[in-house]
Amino acid sequence: MYEKVHLRLTILCAGITAAIMIIMSFSYLYISETGLHKNQFNSFKNDMNTITTNLEGQSVISMEWISKMEAQGNYSFYILDNGIPYLYNQLNTVPDTEYTLFQEALDIYNSQYAVSLSEPFSSFSPYFSFHMEYPFTSPSTGNDYYGCIIEMIKKNANLQIIVLSSLNPLEKQILIQRILFIMIDFFTVFLLGIFSWFFTGKLLKPILENQQKQAQFVASASHELRTPLAVILSSAECCREISPDGQAKFLNIIKQEGLRMSSLIDDMLLLSGSDSKKFPLRVKPVELDTLLLNIYEAFEPIAKEKSISLSLELPESSLPACSCDPDRIKQVISILLHNALSYTETGGFIKLYLSCQKEHFYISVTDNGIGISDEDKKRIFDRFYRVEKSRSTKGHFGLGLSIAYEIMKSHGGTIGVKDADLKGSTFYICIPN
Ligand code: ADP
Repeated sequence: MYEKVHLRLTILCAGITAAIMIIMSFSYLYISETGLHKNQFNSFKNDMNTITTNLEGQSVISMEWISKMEAQGNYSFYILDNGIPYLYNQLNTVPDTEYTLFQEALDIYNSQYAVSLSEPFSSFSPYFSFHMEYPFTSPSTGNDYYGCIIEMIKKNANLQIIVLSSLNPLEKQILIQRILFIMIDFFTVFLLGIFSWFFTGKLLKPILENQQKQAQFVASASHELRTPLAVILSSAECCREISPDGQAKFLNIIKQEGLRMSSLIDDMLLLSGSDSKKFPLRVKPVELDTLLLNIYEAFEPIAKEKSISLSLELPESSLPACSCDPDRIKQVISILLHNALSYTETGGFIKLYLSCQKEHFYISVTDNGIGISDEDKKRIFDRFYRVEKSRSTKGHFGLGLSIAYEIMKSHGGTIGVKDADLKGSTFYICIPN
């Protein structure tokens, strides 16, 4: 389930980003290619302008000049003098394919671009020149070219110059650019995929941990409920089989186990309420010294019964009122005292202490009991965690400290544990001032 959601989120996250990136890079490619074509055509037009001006200034078109122009601009020239191929073209015999190209360029010009003049060229004698540039695709080879027809009347000679420029180099440059972009896009999509996998994994981690905690909680709760339930069922069975006089013992067991189950269910409901943020706090100004005195008085007889000395240390000066839920704080201190009484041997002592510090009220419960190892200190606030299950007395489910932790969290306070001075442990809580 988690893997499926992880994969889907990765695809969604990487997919959307990749789509935006691909659209952007294709738009860039389109703009850049259009610009390249435009620049190339403009540069071709400029060259043709220069060539025409040059031709106008020359009384004789020299062969050197034509070869120089061809080499410079990567152009091909074909000159017709009164319809007859110029000497240059006669000497440098034009290959058939190139001749076909010139013919095609001329045909396309005549059919699509030729300007119809009101009078024939010869009537502009002694001097006239005109040029027209246009892109075209050769019908025979399928290659793209820029073509230019220069019409010129010179000393009654009607010159027609066809100039061709192949677009192959430009198209090659565009192709390389496209391949480069596609490769960059592929690489970026790959990187995006990896990044999204880790990113969504990090996002989902708390959800996964929560899910695992929930599953662990349900498993532990079922396990804890099974024991008293088994005792209740077997006691009920015994009740059926024995005489009414002996039933009282089993009925008492059923009642005790029922109460145990009820207290466990109360604890679980409280924790699930804190998980779903339905943990109502009735905050009001509380005099903590009075609250602690009441708790001390309630626990004193129990401590006496176990021959444990319970003492209370309060500050001498009066304290400011503390904003908290008195019932919840009482619950936390009761959990700590209950634990201290459970894990301290007969003859030991427990100290309840209150002080008001700059930023918080500090309450601690110190015992000289069995103490807690550093390893266990990290885990005792986990739900259902008990140090050596056999060590805990009946009625301890390992939920007390996790409830205390949630209550302190909801108050914006803290709870912690440290070793006591000689032996045992000190649990402390801090309530914001
Ligand atoms: P429990 O209901 O089992 O006491 P808690 O969540 O209150 O559960 O405590 C978790 C565990 O921490 C206990 O099982 C116990 O092993 C240990 N513990 C808590 N308080 C003390 C203490 N004062 N001295 C020693 N061990 C303690």
